[in-house]
Amino acid sequence: MSATEPLAKPRIGISACLLGAEVRYNGGHKRSSLCNDSLGRYLEFVPLCPEVAIGLGTPREPIRLVGDPRAPRAVGSRHPQHDVTEALAAYGERMAGELDDLCGYIFMQRSPSCGVERVKVYQDNGYPAEGGASGIFAQAFRARHPELPVEEDGRLNDPVLRENFLTRVFAYADWRRLCGAGLSRQAILDFHARHKYLLMANDPLAYKRLGHLLGDIGRHDPAEFGPAYFRRLMDALRHCATRGTHSNVLQHLSGYLKRALGADDRREMQALIDQYREGIVPLVVPLTLLKHHFRQHPHAYVARQVYLQPHPEALSLRNAI
Ligand code: SF4
Repeated sequence: MSATEPLAKPRIGISACLLGAEVRYNGGHKRSSLCNDSLGRYLEFVPLCPEVAIGLGTPREPIRLVGDPRAPRAVGSRHPQHDVTEALAAYGERMAGELDDLCGYIFMQRSPSCGVERVKVYQDNGYPAEGGASGIFAQAFRARHPELPVEEDGRLNDPVLRENFLTRVFAYADWRRLCGAGLSRQAILDFHARHKYLLMANDPLAYKRLGHLLGDIGRHDPAEFGPAYFRRLMDALRHCATRGTHSNVLQHLSGYLKRALGADDRREMQALIDQYREGIVPLVVPLTLLKHHFRQHPHAYVARQVYLQPHPEALSLRNAI
C-alpha cells in the first residue's frame, strides 16, 4: 500500500470471543473495544472459535494444557481423559488451508486453543511449567502460514506493538495484491523500493541485507525468489521500530527537502525530529510537517514510500508512539 493508493480492507482472522460472541467456556465473551470499535472499520474480520467448532458446547467444561510444554495436550480440566488435542490441531490445519487469503490474525491470549505464547501448561504437581506454550489451534494454524502477522489482543494495548502489527498486516495485504497481479523481477524491485524506509525503520540491518539480496535478483526465477524475499521482509518487519530508527528515517527523508526548504523551515524540521527522538512529541508531529513540505515540494520517489502512511491515517497509530 503506498501513500497514494486507496486502502483495501484486509481480511483478518480473529478469536470469535473478541468480537463479542458468547462462545467462552462459561457462556461469556471477551469483547475487545479496540477490535470492534476501531480496527473493525479498516479490517474485515473472520471470526473463529475452535472449541465450539470441534463440538464442545457452550457453556462447557474448561480445557487446559498439560504435559510436555514442547508438545502439550489439551484436556478437560476436571476430566483429563477428555483429550481434544487432535481435534483442535486438525481444525487449525483445515482452517489454515481454507482461509489462505487472510492477512493477519488476532488471537485471544492465554487460551489453551487460541493463545499464541506463554499459555500455561500444567504439570503433575499442579503447577504450570516455566515459559508455557502456544494454544493447540493457534500453533497448527500458524505452522501453515509462518509469515502471517499475528498478535494477541492483550498485546495490542501496547501502542508500539499495535502499530507494528498493523504495519505488517497492510504490508502483507500489499504483497498479496502483488502476487495476484503476477510476480516479476521488476514488481519485486518496485515493492522493495516502496518499502525501503519502512524496513530501515524496523530493522536497519535487514534493510542492508535485503538490499544485497535484491542486487542478485537477475539470476533468480521471480516465482522462487519472491516468497524467499517476502519471508525475510516479514521477519524484519517483526522488529519494532524505535524512536532512534524512526528519527534516522525522518532525517533521511528530510534530506530530500534540503534544497527546497529555506533555513528557517529546515531548522524547524530538525527541531521536531530532535524533539521526537527525545520523547517530547509523538511520531505524528515531525511526520505531519514532513508531509506538509512534500505536498509543497513533491518528490516522486518519496511519494511512493509506504513509510509515510503504512496503515489508515484515521487509526491514528502514530499519535501514540
Ligand atoms: S479463546 Fe478461542 S476457543 Fe476460547 S472462546 Fe475465544 S475463540 Fe473460542
